[in-house]
Amino acid sequence: MKPPRRLSDFPYVRVRIACTNCPRKGSYRLARLAASYGPEMELDLLLERLSLDCHVRRAVADSPARYGDFRCGAHFFDLAGSPRPPDLPASTMRLRVVKGGR
Ligand SMILES: [Zn+2]
Repeated sequence: MKPPRRLSDFPYVRVRIACTNCPRKGSYRLARLAASYGPEMELDLLLERLSLDCHVRRAVADSPARYGDFRCGAHFFDLAGSPRPPDLPASTMRLRVVKGGR
């Protein structure tokens, strides 16, 4: 699977972000993000925006020499490692719930 580059390519309904170097975690609705940043927003840029308040990122920006190669490790949780399969379209999921409830 080719990694998505833009928000409109993102395969999941929820956009989850995790950081390897700080306890920061986030979960955003794809529709919300698309509404505020536009569907053509590049994912790299989006990640940067969403992790602006990371302590590590700030500390590194304040004194880069002190931290060397240490960086905020923010990444899209569901795109890292072995990605899970894309979400089913919302309409399909709703149908399934109705069926199972009977
Ligand atoms: Zn971080």
